[in-house]
Amino acid sequence: MKTKIFHIDSDPIDDVIQTSATIIQQGGLVVFPTETVYGIGANALDKDAASHIYQVKGRPSDNPLIVHIAEKEAVSLYAKELSCDAKKLMNAFWPGPLTLVFKKKPIIPNQITGGLDTVAIRMPSHHIARQLIQQAKIPICAPSANISGTPSSTVFKHVYDDLNGKVDVIIDGGQSTVGLESTVLDVTQSKPVILRPGAITKSMIETILNKAILDESTVITDQTIPKAPGMKYRHYAPKGNVTLLEGTHKNIIKYLDTQDNTIGVIASNELCQKLPHSHTFPLGPLDDKSLIAKNIFLALRTMDEKNIASIYIEAFDDQDLGKAIMNRLLKAANYQVKQL
Ligand code: AMP
Ligand code: MG
Repeated sequence: MKTKIFHIDSDPIDDVIQTSATIIQQGGLVVFPTETVYGIGANALDKDAASHIYQVKGRPSDNPLIVHIAEKEAVSLYAKELSCDAKKLMNAFWPGPLTLVFKKKPIIPNQITGGLDTVAIRMPSHHIARQLIQQAKIPICAPSANISGTPSSTVFKHVYDDLNGKVDVIIDGGQSTVGLESTVLDVTQSKPVILRPGAITKSMIETILNKAILDESTVITDQTIPKAPGMKYRHYAPKGNVTLLEGTHKNIIKYLDTQDNTIGVIASNELCQKLPHSHTFPLGPLDDKSLIAKNIFLALRTMDEKNIASIYIEAFDDQDLGKAIMNRLLKAANYQVKQL
């Protein structure tokens, strides 16, 4: 398949949106930028188009897709019940990186929900994503635009490496600003439950709802069936072996001193500045977790591009946004952590 490539910096925006929306309406696949990560989109009401996404990504069929909408009002077309909590959260955080899980209406095909009776819905804030959904006049289901298991794509080059020739269109919209996938929150029960941590944190949600919520994103083991089916699969893994390093900068530097110069190190600016190794990727200053989050997938994929076999990553505190950062890093490392 010949993939049509658009760059939003140089191509006329009307042409980009019109061509891409027509392809979605015809059952094709369009990769588009969102504020979280790039998404590979199809008509969410067309089971065959959605099935094609699973095939292209190599995604297990029981891992459901998030449905993207352009207006809050569209939720009631696809969700059975809208609780007061859900309405408050939509008003506070939409458009933005929060996905809500509702009881689904039959119009949503079972193929995109992995057979569940619920549907995950999000209203993205990225202007290209929103214009595309508006122009197509249909909801767009879109998982992250990468081959299943590998780090999500946050820049055009990484989308292109994975999906050129496999999708109809790729829209280059620059680097994703958030850089981590959305928070997934189940609002089907009286006490909402976080299924995947993201940039909308537990405390931000609790402030809006004025009550405590549950976080089940970390209680997943091989023995339990996670409520967000996708959370049980190997995720975010680069080709190299990843180890998280937990400890003071002094101890981490001492440990890395014993390693040769072929290793890769992903860490805060403060730590990278003190390291002599050739392959370091500074994520950002320690006090700027948003920048660290934004650069994580870019860093993991950059290590792959350099064919780095051993990758060491600084562990961060898991408060607030740190929770989502550490969730992705622990998975990338297959839970390999060295205490120093
Ligand atoms: P991705 O599209 O790759 O960002 O992954 C979407 C995430 O949302 C996966 O972890 C899914 O398991 C989760 N998800 C999607 N739909 C549902 C649903 N109906 N119920 C629970 N989790 C869901
Ligand atoms: Mg994904």
